[in-house]
Amino acid sequence: MSEFSLVIKNARINDTTISDIGINNGKIEKIGKLNNGKTYIDANKHYVINGFVNSHCHLDKSNLLDKMTEDHLGKTLEENRLLLKKLKSSYSESDIEKRATDTIEKMLSKGITAIRTQVDVDPTAGVVPIKSLLKLREKYKDRVYIQIAAFPQEGVVDEAKRDLMERAMELGADVVGGLPLVEAKGNEKRHLEILFELAKKYNKNLDIQVDETNDPRMAILPEVIKKTKEENFNGRVTVTHAIALSRLPTEKAKEIIEQMKALRINVIVTPSANMITRFAEVSDLWIRPSNSITRVTELYDNGINVALGTDNVRDIFYPFGNCSMIRELHMLVSATRMTTRDYIDAAISMATTNGAKLLGLNYGIEEGRQADIIITDGTSKLDILNSDETIPCVIKNGNILFLDKNRLERGSN
Ligand SMILES: [Zn+2]
Repeated sequence: MSEFSLVIKNARINDTTISDIGINNGKIEKIGKLNNGKTYIDANKHYVINGFVNSHCHLDKSNLLDKMTEDHLGKTLEENRLLLKKLKSSYSESDIEKRATDTIEKMLSKGITAIRTQVDVDPTAGVVPIKSLLKLREKYKDRVYIQIAAFPQEGVVDEAKRDLMERAMELGADVVGGLPLVEAKGNEKRHLEILFELAKKYNKNLDIQVDETNDPRMAILPEVIKKTKEENFNGRVTVTHAIALSRLPTEKAKEIIEQMKALRINVIVTPSANMITRFAEVSDLWIRPSNSITRVTELYDNGINVALGTDNVRDIFYPFGNCSMIRELHMLVSATRMTTRDYIDAAISMATTNGAKLLGLNYGIEEGRQADIIITDGTSKLDILNSDETIPCVIKNGNILFLDKNRLERGSN
């Protein structure tokens, strides 16, 4: 009988099954009763799930608090963009690497094994942030999978800005990012056209930040849908935020969700950052602020692939965050009332396998899948949400990155 490089004993792989997981060559090779491992970890009946996938964050501008002053707090999205420009003019590669490294390490300790980071590409910092993140993508490749989306923070319609996006793609960015909202009024559609041109030219998928607003009149999502159809980009487009969808009448939203489903458009939700989105102060639109978050349950119920991200961590746009997906999950289920057992299960999938699908990773606790695994503190999915945010055991490509045996021996909290 062949020997496994690692065997996880007594792993809870669903609510009713405790089994052993045999790992070889970075893959889950066998699930069953196993006694032939070179190394063993006893999961002590704790839930074993895939590593968390942080589908949306901004590593290059994370950890900016040291450079900020008190009067940088509490500003509007537009004011924040101007402040960022100021801070960014003093960026250097080493400064970005230092801040991003700190964030990556924190994410690792919180069980994140894969990250899609948006990385600014604009005239203020040029492609310096992209170069820094390319270095870190290589440096961390055995510990965390990093996917880089070139993000036109200051727009892409202007020719010089588009040239910078081309340069970022040529340097090795994995995904074309987008932010139509940042363009001068009337240029949003042109912004989308250019994104699709870039995605076709470099044969990459698209991940566009849309409708980070509570004003449904500004919704650009219908245009993204139209363009996805025209360009035959089924399954290759992701939209992040899509908050305005919650402000559209239910019938209209339903229609949009059906179109998204047909085109297999993915959605990323970033609950904490979304919740601070301001409300329109126009009298005819003012409604008592409820939650600024997209229609997560409706999207999920209609079969849309919904994934989860932390978004900004300790920066000009969002000064909070500790890189924890458990914290983000807690915000998600609370803001969207995802409190049934099925929705709690769904939320965990949003933080793991759904994100993996979007990033093109082969996740799942099944034979033949990638051995990116965390042993949690919980004995149920609900328990996982209520557990400490650092993870007792993190395994990437079959290698143990963190292991706190005492916590596993103690049993779940
Ligand atoms: Zn973002």
